[in-house]
Amino acid sequence: MPTTLGYAAHSHDTPLVPYSFERREPLDNDVQIEILYCGVCHSDIHQVHNEWGSSTFPMVPGHEIVGKVTKVGAQVTRFKVGDNVGVGCMVGSCGVCPECQEGVEQYCNAAEFTYNSADKISGGNNYGGYAKQIIVNQNFVLQISDKLDLAASAPLLCAGITTYSPLRHWKIGQGDKVGIVGLGGLGHMGIKFAHALGAHVVLFTTSPGKAEDAKRLGADEVVVSKNADEMAKHAGSFNFILNTVAVPHNLDAFTALLKRDGTLCLVGVPDQPHPSPTVGSLIFKRRAIAGSLIGGIKETQEMLDFCAEHNITSDVEIIPMQAINEAYDRVLKSDVKYRFVIDLATL
Ligand code: NAP
Ligand code: ZN
Repeated sequence: MPTTLGYAAHSHDTPLVPYSFERREPLDNDVQIEILYCGVCHSDIHQVHNEWGSSTFPMVPGHEIVGKVTKVGAQVTRFKVGDNVGVGCMVGSCGVCPECQEGVEQYCNAAEFTYNSADKISGGNNYGGYAKQIIVNQNFVLQISDKLDLAASAPLLCAGITTYSPLRHWKIGQGDKVGIVGLGGLGHMGIKFAHALGAHVVLFTTSPGKAEDAKRLGADEVVVSKNADEMAKHAGSFNFILNTVAVPHNLDAFTALLKRDGTLCLVGVPDQPHPSPTVGSLIFKRRAIAGSLIGGIKETQEMLDFCAEHNITSDVEIIPMQAINEAYDRVLKSDVKYRFVIDLATL
């Protein structure tokens, strides 16, 4: 079994520390990857802190993985040694249910996640990308164009696809007015994609100091969401609002900004429910509240190709592995510009 060095959480209230563990022996369909960079998603923090109630320890987080192929199994046809590749939130699914058949494996009941999920082949635990190497079935490995900076591409594997997928599903394009709520890892990618798709983009933020950055990233307007007067100016005007906030808050403030038939799509996953929406805020304009989970493998590849074509990557702060606990503290204070990415060469 290949031994790998990484960083793990051993409980919900202790810092991450160095950890050696074993990956499964590579199979005929597996790709072995030397991990060069891994993004730090707010979901890593929710899971390390067991805020979703399903954490198993030790846990090696990390699902925004990029690196180079170091070995391929006998039946691997799509990758060769030396390729730049990525791995996102999923490493397996049943392959036969309607969701898998339609290329939306993220909605498969048997979807296997990159960490904090059982490895169906070895029976052990899956360990994520805060580590030197990973072994993944070729069907869940993504190609990354040589045109893209690798470190700045890591967050595309989760923050990128999680914002790209709903924007595409709701067919956002020219003529649409789109709101993005929260300027963090997901939010900054939401702005870039909505702008690239031709929409008029408005950022809703609790941090007035981020306004200038938001405009540089592609926002046409910035609204401080705690300012009721500023919010009221946009009442009934949005086709679509993508809400990335990781804490419970009043959703009515945003549904009120939708046009008739507009949609508020939630991608943030707080540990507690949002206060219930007011029914009146929905029915009088046939407004919808929806949710969306990452994206399928086919769409993730489409998103990475879109990024190569439009020269889109994340704005990242590269950190050594040893700085992970401080990085978590800063994410929790909304103080990240706009995604931390771990340089695994420091481990
Ligand atoms: P993040 O980098 O921490 O960004 C969240 C942003 O929310 C913050 O930067 C901040 O932006 C805003 N915010 C923070 N506290 C707030 C508060 N009290 N009220 C209002 N806004 C607040 O997190 P992320 O990595 O983008 O992840 C966001 C959420 O999406 C997490 O819950 C994560 O688990 C979830 N997620 C879901 C999926 C999915 O498939 N659905 C995938 C990945 C992540 P401002 O400073 O601009 O207000
Ligand atoms: Zn994530």
